[in-house]
Amino acid sequence: MDKTSRQQFEFKAEMKQLLHLIVNSLYTNPEVFLRELISNSSDALNKLRFRQVTGENVQSPKVPLKIKIEVDEKGQTFSIEDTGVGMTFDDLTERLGTIASSGTMEFLRQLKDQKNKLDGNMIGQFGVGFYSAFMVAEQITVETRHADPDEKAYIWVSDGKGTYEIEESDRTVRGTRISFRLKDEHKEFAGAERIRQLIRKYSNFVDYTIEVNGEEVNSRGAVWHKNKNEVTDEERNEFYKFISNDFQEPLDHLHLSMEGRINFKALVFVPKKAKPDFFRAESLKSLQLYSNRVFVRENCEELLPEYLRFVEGVVDSEDLPLNVSREVTQHSPVMAKIREVLVNKIFGMIEYWAESEPDKFRTFYDEFGPLFKSGLNSDFANRDRITELLRFHSTLTPAATGGADSGADSGGAASKSESGSAPGPMDDLISLSGYVERMPESQKEIFYLSGENLAELRRDPRLEYFRKKEIEVLLLSDPVDAFVVPGIGSYKEKPLKSIEKADIDLEDDPDDEKADRLSDEDLDRLLAVFREEAGERVENVVASRRLVDSAVTLTIGKEGMDSHMERMMKMMDQDVGPSRRVLEVNPSHPVIRNMSRIQKTGNEEMVRLMARQLYDGARLMQGELESPGDFVARMTRVMELATK
Ligand code: ADP
Ligand code: MG
Repeated sequence: MDKTSRQQFEFKAEMKQLLHLIVNSLYTNPEVFLRELISNSSDALNKLRFRQVTGENVQSPKVPLKIKIEVDEKGQTFSIEDTGVGMTFDDLTERLGTIASSGTMEFLRQLKDQKNKLDGNMIGQFGVGFYSAFMVAEQITVETRHADPDEKAYIWVSDGKGTYEIEESDRTVRGTRISFRLKDEHKEFAGAERIRQLIRKYSNFVDYTIEVNGEEVNSRGAVWHKNKNEVTDEERNEFYKFISNDFQEPLDHLHLSMEGRINFKALVFVPKKAKPDFFRAESLKSLQLYSNRVFVRENCEELLPEYLRFVEGVVDSEDLPLNVSREVTQHSPVMAKIREVLVNKIFGMIEYWAESEPDKFRTFYDEFGPLFKSGLNSDFANRDRITELLRFHSTLTPAATGGADSGADSGGAASKSESGSAPGPMDDLISLSGYVERMPESQKEIFYLSGENLAELRRDPRLEYFRKKEIEVLLLSDPVDAFVVPGIGSYKEKPLKSIEKADIDLEDDPDDEKADRLSDEDLDRLLAVFREEAGERVENVVASRRLVDSAVTLTIGKEGMDSHMERMMKMMDQDVGPSRRVLEVNPSHPVIRNMSRIQKTGNEEMVRLMARQLYDGARLMQGELESPGDFVARMTRVMELATK
């Protein structure tokens, strides 16, 4: 090109379309222009750095690698200059005049399909590169000199409306300077403080010095890009606090650098404590995505399944272009692979805690266990790994130290702590494998009982039989357990079974055939009264084999869900019909024997009252009694009759 001439060029058709879109304010987030320009400068500096390290000659070799931004509020001007690789004439016509990223192309295709139905939020998710600057400027000037000493310098000017002009320039230093006057409605970007604030938001970890009006904006560099041995604990923790807004140090971290079929770096953390609004689905944060040190997106949901969203941090992959849309990343095999590796590593970390760092595991389990366990219902590929990490209280684990439920238990085998005499942080919990290991060979099932709190669970009369037989029963007190545990089905071929179910296979004990047990005939007569009193509400009334100290209890028929689950479903306004219970009566209990005796004397009223009272008492225990008034009135009547 002749030095004095100025040439006009036309943008390609799709480019015009894109420009039109950007300028017509579909782009709701104009501040991202800064991110795009800084990321281009950072790319250019990366390329220059590569040339330098590979020993190529570069223009102005002594000039340091940095980014300078100058803003002028009065003149409403903005400029960004870097000492990167710069652009050749061909770059200016071919790279600056085309859409490089497939994400943007895809977006345009969608736009064509949907005509005007696309909303602003959608385009906001797309990086549109250099051209996003036309959101805030009418006309843009790019002055550039390529790093190759044989190349010339050029000035490129465009109003973004379809054509651009190029002429030669006398710039001597390598690199690129992009400048423009801001539109009136975007003059805020001529404020140095505003720009610094945006840099901290979007480009805090860019690897090069950024100056705004001569003043350096503190940059911490890309911590995750460093070799993990070179990052101090302090530096890492500071980074964690910066990205998470946490004031505490993290529980643990993973610093990954994967190379090969998939390339990415990641620095991710597990907090010690869940944030106050953690369990509101919409406040679940996820990882930040970087593409070669340049921030792409916050909260990149595709990187982790929901049940692992307690993990915070950064993933940086060269394999993903910066201008990558949400729609593209969702179906990207690169993302899927990164996710797979991350999930695997996170499991590895948690499994390591479970094995060797019980304090960390306990902190994690108490804080994030409920969310983590929900993965059982969503991540079938990792079900077995989640199942192995489950921990439960049980009738054989000691009650938590100083807890409200101390003393209720006659725990046997479990009291011995694995590490010796001092109680360990996980001693009050047991895994399924621990359970199976210590269950007697004759036992075919894993028993559990779920309920609202541990103290009440431990007092549940349905445990009596199991206590007496020293059969361990898992006590599920976390509300999530009731939703996920029944779905496990079986573990190591042992079915998991709620002891509330009436059909569990209880062994007959020869000791039970005691002389004080009611005869079958007397029992049938008495059960008939119970049947009449409980009426339609129960599916059946049977003689119980599981009760030792209690007179009656309610269990669940074949089809029913367990009572705790049912209560929770009701709390969530789920439409569940009342499932009918089975009333079990203990034929060896003194009250039952007395009732039979009274029945023989012909005092029907007393027997009826007692049957009703025992049934209601069992309902009361399970939080299913609607009218305490009747219950108390009846009790008074019983006392009256008994003291007559
Ligand atoms: P992308 O960064 O995804 O390639 P952009 O629209 O941001 O898309 O930039 C288009 C191209 O323009 C870049 O690939 C690069 O070749 C060139 N470019 C933009 N800014 C610079 C710069 N500051 N220095 C050198 N080249 C640049
Ligand atoms: Mg770019």
